[in-house]
Amino acid sequence: MDILQHITALREELRKHNYNYYVLDNPTISDYDFDMKLKELQELEAKYPEYYDSSSPTLRVGGAVTKNFETVAHEYRMYSLDNSYSKEDLLDWEARIKKLVDGDISYTCELKYDGASISLTYEDGKLQKAVTRGDGFQGDDVTTNIKTIKSVPLQLNGDYPPKFDIRGEIVLPFEGFNKMNEERIEIGEEPYRNPRNTASGSLKLQDSAEVAKRPLECLLYTVIGPNLDIATQYECLDKARSWGFKVPNTAHLANSIEEVLEFIGYWDTKRFELPYETDGVVIKVNDLYHQEELGYTAKAPRWAIAYKFKAEQVSTRLNSITYQVGRTGAITPVANLDPVELAGTIVKRASLHNADQIEKLDIRVGDEVFVEKGGEIIPKIIAVDLSKRPIDSQATQYITHCPECDTELVRQEGEAQHYCPNYNGCKPQIIGRIQHYISRKAMDIEGMGGETVALLVNGGLIDNYSDLYELTKEQILPLERMADKSADNLLNGIEASKQIPFERVLYALGIRYVGETVAKKLAKHYKSIDNLKAASLEDLVNVDEIGVKIAESVLAFFEDGANINIVERLKNFGVQLEISAEKLAEQTDKLKNLTFVVSGVFETVSRDELKKLIEDNGGKVSSSISSKTSYLVAGDKMGPSKRTKAEQLNLAIISESEFLQMVM
Ligand code: AMP
Ligand code: ZN
Repeated sequence: MDILQHITALREELRKHNYNYYVLDNPTISDYDFDMKLKELQELEAKYPEYYDSSSPTLRVGGAVTKNFETVAHEYRMYSLDNSYSKEDLLDWEARIKKLVDGDISYTCELKYDGASISLTYEDGKLQKAVTRGDGFQGDDVTTNIKTIKSVPLQLNGDYPPKFDIRGEIVLPFEGFNKMNEERIEIGEEPYRNPRNTASGSLKLQDSAEVAKRPLECLLYTVIGPNLDIATQYECLDKARSWGFKVPNTAHLANSIEEVLEFIGYWDTKRFELPYETDGVVIKVNDLYHQEELGYTAKAPRWAIAYKFKAEQVSTRLNSITYQVGRTGAITPVANLDPVELAGTIVKRASLHNADQIEKLDIRVGDEVFVEKGGEIIPKIIAVDLSKRPIDSQATQYITHCPECDTELVRQEGEAQHYCPNYNGCKPQIIGRIQHYISRKAMDIEGMGGETVALLVNGGLIDNYSDLYELTKEQILPLERMADKSADNLLNGIEASKQIPFERVLYALGIRYVGETVAKKLAKHYKSIDNLKAASLEDLVNVDEIGVKIAESVLAFFEDGANINIVERLKNFGVQLEISAEKLAEQTDKLKNLTFVVSGVFETVSRDELKKLIEDNGGKVSSSISSKTSYLVAGDKMGPSKRTKAEQLNLAIISESEFLQMVM
């Protein structure tokens, strides 16, 4: 077969699999096979650049960087929507419409997705342009980033018009959002506030490879253009679906306003089961001819209206504001409330985020406040009931000094959070850092829990993690709940941690922004703590995926004399502060570009050894099965849900011995 034909066939095939997986949620190929085909295509495209195609599936992985997003005009204006909040509002709207059009009117009801609006332009079935809403007349060209979103078709199927715009919403499902936040919290970054802002922020990231990593989705709801040969909104949804777009099938055709109200009633509670955030329903007059008759006001179409769900909200009294100090020194103000029920749970506390938030809402102790629960885990205070404010109420003064160690707080230019800079003397920071050091993914010190750390620090027995290695049995026996056996366990656990490999020690040190992945990268690159310590800013940022923020944080860590001492002590105690010669010799890249999920109990190797084998051979280990998984290594007693999921995704499931064959 000639090369171009082969390339075209591969593109065609990968496109189909993308569609099955991301639009239909119904994959028909294993991830491994998919990745192999994608790799083949990437190689061919690199070899034959003359066959470049702007809609090739290889563009999904991103890589192109946009420094400035170009402003472009929308060919058709992107209007806003009028809002309604009650049955009466909707009946009024219906009455207004009935005055302007004759005959029966039907309506499409669609969920109002809460994300970032986007307008996509297609020509001859290919995605030409993706532009944000902006002010409705013009927006930012974010095409490079949008191309990485797998549910956005780069090439359409079927009987599509030669040129049209299609509009929709870019959303970030809760699952992906929560996972992104877990990772951020882990490395001491502030979590993202909500999926909507994170979705719209993602569109403006400069590095499209970063966008490709985020599990964004694009849900479409309207097609615009000349000579479309479409008669109704409902048909428009159907057609868009048939060309390959992701159009949620929650849309419903209602023949009367009563049916519209039924739809709203149903989703008012059902919406909490959806994978992403919705804040209402959009009702549209179905007949496009009617739509034309009705036209637009200065701001919004007359033929559509948004119905906003009432957020789950209650009011309660704010009893006090307390301030928590995290392991990185970040201060978080917390509102302590009169306990109250909200969306099925009792709420006693709410996060106030930071000083700006308190000032913006003018929240004061003694106020009656409104608390709301959205997609986030922690409820938030959205407003103060000023009519109930006590006369002697005082404006809240944000603390100026650390509640734990009384050090004056600092707030860096451009940062929302205040920090306690007393890195070496502030109890919660000291305790938090040691707790991180002993945690499972770090030094994994068995027999030691977070409470024990607090007892040891408060009892004056340790000040930092290097002190752990000097603890004696006599010192720890008097601690609460410490028996002979548990003391032995603890000491054995500490001793065993000296075998933990360098990359995990580096993670355990708790350098801000150095999470597991970054630690691995740095360990691999520098090979020893001394090399890392000697690295300059320039050096560091030249390492793949290390940015200025991380680099500065590493430098700051080693500028602190106390840290240098601690590291030296660790070294003297025998903690691994360089990659072992053995390990250096062992490493291969046999499993390069492959991702493994490991589950169950194994015979000849432990689970951790198996994971280490994967990484030493250049593979990646992931904790959950997804489209990215290449192999599931199945041991004894593997969870049935993992197996089912793997089977659904058509993943290659291999045994321990099959795996070992791969790396031998
Ligand atoms: P607003 O931002 O309140 O003016 O509401 C208009 C926005 O709602 C549009 O720009 C869309 O981004 C968004 N939207 C979400 N879902 C839909 C839908 N099903 N139909 C129309 N607009 C929607
Ligand atoms: Zn402090």
